[in-house]
Amino acid sequence: MDAKTRSAVRTQANDRCEYCRIHQRYYRFTFHVEHIVAKQHRGTDADDNLALACHYCNRHKGPNLAGIDPSSDKLTRLFHPRTDSWKSHFSLQNGRITGLCDIGRTTVEVLNMNAPERIRLRVLLEPEFFVQ
Ligand SMILES: [Zn+2]
Repeated sequence: MDAKTRSAVRTQANDRCEYCRIHQRYYRFTFHVEHIVAKQHRGTDADDNLALACHYCNRHKGPNLAGIDPSSDKLTRLFHPRTDSWKSHFSLQNGRITGLCDIGRTTVEVLNMNAPERIRLRVLLEPEFFVQ
């Protein structure tokens, strides 16, 4: 993956993690351009398979494509930043991200989006969290 491609992904994401929506400016570590479908699952370097992810989300997602929905205990695919709408799958309140459907719940669980330190940071940032 070349620098031009990484730059295009960052621009498309407005420098926000496409999973938890945190902005790059709050972290000193550069966010990763990740494969939504990992290469080991035949994912490609095509634009529609690349997303910007903070190090927390990227580390927990790893090569996962699915997880177990904590409500139904059913195998459920993860949120896909290129084909799914964030606001249709998640809500944010008091720093906590809530999954609004099976895909949202499963993604929150697999990516450990509500780890205490992540909630504390969002509480501090929430007034401007969705400001572009
Ligand atoms: Zn994230």
